[in-house]
Amino acid sequence: MSKIRFNALKEVFKREPKKVEVPERLSRLFNENVFSEYIMQEYLTSSAYKYIVAAKNKGEKIPREIADQVAAAMKDWALSKGATHYTHWFQPLTGSTAEKHDAFFNTIGGGKAIEQFNGSLLVQQEPDASSFPNGGIRNTFEARGYTAWDPTSDAFVIDTTLCIPSVFISYTGETLDYKTPLLRALQAVDEAATEVARYFDRNVSKVQSTLGWEQEYFLVDSALFNTRPDLQLTGRTLLGHSPAKGQQLEDHYFGSIPLRIIRFMQELEVECMKLGIPIKTRHNEVAPNQFECAPIFEEANQAVDHNSLLMDLMTRVARRHNFKVLLHEKPFSGVNGSGKHNNWSLSTDAGENLLSPGKNPKKNLQFLTFFINTIKAVHDYGDVLRSAIASASNDHRLGANEAPPAIISVFIGSQLTSVLDELEKVKKGKLSPDEKTDLKLNIVGKIPEILLDNTDRNRTSPFAFTGNKFEFRAVGSSANCAEAMMVINTIVAHQLKLFKAEVDALIEKGLKKDEAIFNVLRDYIKTSRNILFEGDGYSQDWEKEAAKRKLSNLKTTPEALQIELQPKFMDVFVSNSVLSKVEIEARNEIKLEKYSTLIDIEAQVLADLARNHIIPTAIRYQNKLIENVQGLKDIFGEKEFKSIAKEQIDLIKTISEKISKIKVGVDQLLAEKEKSHAIEHSNKRAHAFANNVKPFFDLIRDDVDDLEMMVDDEIWPLTKYRELLFTK
Ligand code: ADP
Ligand code: MG
Repeated sequence: MSKIRFNALKEVFKREPKKVEVPERLSRLFNENVFSEYIMQEYLTSSAYKYIVAAKNKGEKIPREIADQVAAAMKDWALSKGATHYTHWFQPLTGSTAEKHDAFFNTIGGGKAIEQFNGSLLVQQEPDASSFPNGGIRNTFEARGYTAWDPTSDAFVIDTTLCIPSVFISYTGETLDYKTPLLRALQAVDEAATEVARYFDRNVSKVQSTLGWEQEYFLVDSALFNTRPDLQLTGRTLLGHSPAKGQQLEDHYFGSIPLRIIRFMQELEVECMKLGIPIKTRHNEVAPNQFECAPIFEEANQAVDHNSLLMDLMTRVARRHNFKVLLHEKPFSGVNGSGKHNNWSLSTDAGENLLSPGKNPKKNLQFLTFFINTIKAVHDYGDVLRSAIASASNDHRLGANEAPPAIISVFIGSQLTSVLDELEKVKKGKLSPDEKTDLKLNIVGKIPEILLDNTDRNRTSPFAFTGNKFEFRAVGSSANCAEAMMVINTIVAHQLKLFKAEVDALIEKGLKKDEAIFNVLRDYIKTSRNILFEGDGYSQDWEKEAAKRKLSNLKTTPEALQIELQPKFMDVFVSNSVLSKVEIEARNEIKLEKYSTLIDIEAQVLADLARNHIIPTAIRYQNKLIENVQGLKDIFGEKEFKSIAKEQIDLIKTISEKISKIKVGVDQLLAEKEKSHAIEHSNKRAHAFANNVKPFFDLIRDDVDDLEMMVDDEIWPLTKYRELLFTK
């Protein structure tokens, strides 16, 4: 075995599970390091506290003197937690989180120093923004953007730093982060959904969007990880033969979790608790060394922050256990990839879930209203949902027979389908008293018992109704959920506004409220039929059927991203004040740039590995074979040796062929990469990377993976899949 592989494995075998201190009750740690409402009540005057609550719930502004008070309280609390620094914590479009730490420490003259923090530092800061992507909004040399406190998400202490959740905006007013458009979309859906909810309950004054994410990930020992340049540089393996024992047995899913991994999970959970991330579930996933965790759902903005924080925490905690967390959507070819299911719903200020059927027909009509409007929104705007989840890494997963297809459809289950069928038959216009009674008793009245028995779950659907929420399953494991949440909430807000206008118009014409609602919903069912699909989303038949229905099947990121620039899709964001045209274009540019850069890096890493690791190894092995054949010839003579050494001679030939194919493939790959790289126009460049560069990856890989099976294991330089996935 190559020395590097051998030493890494030796290290892994010596590992002991790290001891983790888990308190008797995890709940006691909950929010320990969070400046929560509970803590605020203790540290703030009651009037200041009221301002914060109003800012959280109603988006009201916080006056400067109150900000000063909050800053002083935050500082005192943070110091009590051992913090020495503070930072505006934000989510730039790079995909990770960013922070620049400043010390509370300040000199005050006379040789003295104290800890200081005030309202203006709390409210706004100016990081050096030149290193964050801006899609051409600002010239880098005028690198001026600012971060501003988001009081709707709680501040927290990590290690010795007070982190203040913030938005990130350019001085010209454009958003440069994930959070700002999300907050705008949440406001749009609040306004639109509140209006509609008030048809059913006059007391509703606010609707918030809820999110419960489920995060999948792989763990790989860090010593093994460090032997794989492809994992280190691209987050996925570009080479590697599938292990003999792959996923076929699927025994991992049900198996017990190994102790070393349990310890990691325990420490992660402890850290999550302290930071207020309400983590609830942990389990094995389908693939070897693949796992999942999920929290109790929360208000969407808070949940998004918590997911970003979790991804960060996972990386830190893993390091202490000598693991590397792989958040990439497809780290291993031929092995299940990772996603991040986004469970989404809407809930009133009274805590009522608007996608949950209620106890009486009125509540059920409310449920149907939000349910059908969501379906209509996805019908009309499914393509932007697709583009919201587009990335180079997620392309490996969507439509790869393990994750939802790239075609967006909605699964609602057979029973709700039949409810919609019945509703569609309701006659247009006014209803007789008998018809109304029938509708209430036999259609709307039946819903609760149906949903409790929501057994027919469809794992192949990208957007599924699961009893009291929709589950958007196509989101990538490494993605920031904000993007998907921003889109869902915007298109639903848009749809609810249209709905309200249509219902009001019918009421004007003399229809009763219920009749008007039934009429509009019935029309929506008719026009949205196409998006409903209950069958196997992985099947070829569905691709054909979807094409007949004229549903998009956008297989690559560059294709999906073109959608964002179409007027219809731009309008939905612009008219709901979520993103401006300039922002949409800039973000689109950033995503394309990110895509091209990633494929570019992958091409370079693959070429380097093939040239510096694989080809030299294959030649070495070939030489060994040649020496051996030569020896046989010396012993047995010209005639006899040919039959004796036949297999070896064939092997030498095959290896030669593979080497030259790899060599030619790599040359072509690099040539295409250079050509693509030189293309000025970002969309054309991304398309070139997708269509001309990427296809070489698999071609080269196939030959390399064949060589892996031929060449002596002793000298194979790269840690193998079986070692990466099965070494515990
Ligand atoms: P599973 O999908 O594994 O069967 P559940 O259906 O119980 O599990 O929930 C999965 C996720 O959905 C959890 O993260 C949970 O918090 C979230 N969830 C449940 N109800 C809602 C809701 N009303 N809004 C948003 N997320 C929710
Ligand atoms: Mg789920």
